Amino acid sequence: MPIKVAVNGYGTIGKRVADAVARQPDLRLVGVSKSRPNYEAEIARSKGYPLFVAGSGTTAAFESAGLNVAGSVSDLVRAADIVIDCAPESVGRENAKLYGSAGVPAVFQGGEKSDVAEVSFSALANFEAARGKKRVRVVSCNTTGLARSVAVLRSGFGVDHWEATLVRRAADPAESERGPINGILPSFKIPSHHGPDVRTIFPDLSITTTALVVPTTLMHVHVNHVRLSKPPASIQAVLERFRATPRFHVFREWEGVDGTPQVMEYARDRATGARADMMENVLWEHGMRLEGPDLYFFQAIHQESIVVPENIDAVRAMLGGRESAAASIEMTDRNLGIPRPGA
Ligand code: NAD
Repeated sequence: MPIKVAVNGYGTIGKRVADAVARQPDLRLVGVSKSRPNYEAEIARSKGYPLFVAGSGTTAAFESAGLNVAGSVSDLVRAADIVIDCAPESVGRENAKLYGSAGVPAVFQGGEKSDVAEVSFSALANFEAARGKKRVRVVSCNTTGLARSVAVLRSGFGVDHWEATLVRRAADPAESERGPINGILPSFKIPSHHGPDVRTIFPDLSITTTALVVPTTLMHVHVNHVRLSKPPASIQAVLERFRATPRFHVFREWEGVDGTPQVMEYARDRATGARADMMENVLWEHGMRLEGPDLYFFQAIHQESIVVPENIDAVRAMLGGRESAAASIEMTDRNLGIPRPGA
């Protein structure tokens, strides 16, 4: 029997997670919720996703737009084995009360504080920690990107200290209300919240992060400096590790991918899965250097989609059979069209 999954909140993350759930044979999407009718609600209807009314929304508002609704969020939660909460930041914490009283397990997003859940999750790093849990939080886009890389380098070479500067996109592409923007805004909180967030997954990792926001909507870019405890003789060994791990994409110099515009053009040309997204950590072979124990590398993170496969794996870890992390990741990625390592 497929696991019945509800997606509460059908915005930037929720609509991608809903499409991803619909593509997994062991999961069944029982519905999505929105607080008001708009083009996204119309797309949900056209895809045949039952639509439920969230938050302060009303059935009348949807019906006057010609959109049938199947009920309220309470009805949606009752119909599900598990809810993936994709509501705006901090709203998930409010919604948690409803899931708790209905006795339905829930996956939360990185906009919630870590104590909303029993465990913060990244599939490559701590899949087993979510096994059988009732409340799991998939960490934010930046933290997911960092956690994946930490998982690779820690297991391969050990990490004495990690320093990252996060160059953050100012808004998602559809968030026109947040612009126009012209400036570079340092986050004066040092360290930025990302380092402590990575430590919700790797409690003993020495990591310092700083961040700044720049006027772009495409992706984030991380500038990483990692002191390795057991450095390899050459950068090739590091590259091979990244290339052999799912959810990493390493560009070569001849491909002419100079930065995030070409990465997203590549994603559109490749048209992975249901959406032209880039769910992998993006690295550059020629943007990597090893000097003794010091590794330097850039990575780009597609903020709108990187957490999508992790949400699917979180559901399997919580309610699935006894799939291993590797088996779940393989199944998720195959159904989403994320290329296998070496493919
Ligand atoms: P969004 O604003 O694009 O979408 C939120 C959706 O929730 C909207 O469709 C809205 O109608 C709906 N909603 C409003 N009130 C609700 C309620 N009470 N209950 C349920 N749904 C409600 O937000 P988003 O960018 O998709 O962010 C969702 C979560 O994902 C946040 O925790 C955010 O921090 C996290 N996240 C966002 C990004 C990103 O880049 N956008 C990346 C990673 C994680």
